[in-house]
Amino acid sequence: MNESLERLKEEVAGRLSRSVSEAEVEQLRVEYLGRKGTVTGLLRGLKDVAPEERPQRGEELNRLRAFIEERIAGCLESLKAEKRSKALTEERVDITLPGSRRERGRVHPLTMVVDEIVDVFSAMGFEIARGPDIEDDYHNFEALNMPKDHPARDMQDTFFVAAERLLRTHTSPVQIHVMESRKPPLQIIVPGAVYRHDDDATHSPMFHQVEGFMVDRGIAFTDLKGVLTHVLRQIFSADARVRFRPSFFPFTEPSAEVDIGCVICDGKGALRDSHACRVCKGTGWLEILGSGMIDPEVFRFVGYDAEKFSGFAFGMGVERIAMLKYGVEDIRLFFQNDLRFLRQFPSF
Ligand SMILES: [Zn+2]
Repeated sequence: MNESLERLKEEVAGRLSRSVSEAEVEQLRVEYLGRKGTVTGLLRGLKDVAPEERPQRGEELNRLRAFIEERIAGCLESLKAEKRSKALTEERVDITLPGSRRERGRVHPLTMVVDEIVDVFSAMGFEIARGPDIEDDYHNFEALNMPKDHPARDMQDTFFVAAERLLRTHTSPVQIHVMESRKPPLQIIVPGAVYRHDDDATHSPMFHQVEGFMVDRGIAFTDLKGVLTHVLRQIFSADARVRFRPSFFPFTEPSAEVDIGCVICDGKGALRDSHACRVCKGTGWLEILGSGMIDPEVFRFVGYDAEKFSGFAFGMGVERIAMLKYGVEDIRLFFQNDLRFLRQFPSF
């Protein structure tokens, strides 16, 4: 190879060996092999070389170009390897840094109350049953002793989805479903959503009930009183006062409304500043559930012999109990999903 090309080769090799970055190597590539690069210029000058010297000169220049390309590739390869091993030693993961915290959900206050009620009944041997939210007129009304023209139907403003189909207005139709398919003894509770055309601070078009019933030979009103008194004392307080008032429901006879001593004013009817208690309207009592002995007419619908079997049934509003337990004044707060409201309840 001619001397000047030999020098050029050494010059490139020397400069590449001193290069410390990919950018520097790229700069050298442009300088020698780029469009205006030294070697490119020499190759372009071939046409001015005497024809007899041209083949050798051409070959030398091509070898030089190949040499430079090879060196550049090798140089880039070793720079990359160097960078990798440097990253491996320097960029360590700090395992002592705190991780990103995952937001924990919590149980909705209404679910908490349902769970609590279910626990109390389960401990007494009650099973849980469920039924459909969309019912037919027969199970929601008729089999519960409310024929088409019965005035009690007006107590439950109903959402109809078709002529004989409706959103259940209470969980009582599940009583009918269970009794249609099973024989006593039965001890059942039915938690679930119910629907009525009603909407204000204490009524929601969708709310929850826990229905329950017990059927066997020889079940008496004293069983109803004993079970419900125990349940209310478990849910509210061991010394809660409980009273039973005569009432009317089409599917029970006799029927009783059950009250507990007001949890806000402690049954006094008035607050410490002597203002009347708004929650119990000054009466000192809170209506908490409806109950009664299952009407023989209901047994007739499900094919039970009312001479052999008797039973009691009851229903309670979950939202009402939650409002009293936690001092919530507007039922709508339960359904707005405002985290500021929901976060006030204990989480598990
Ligand atoms: Zn009160």
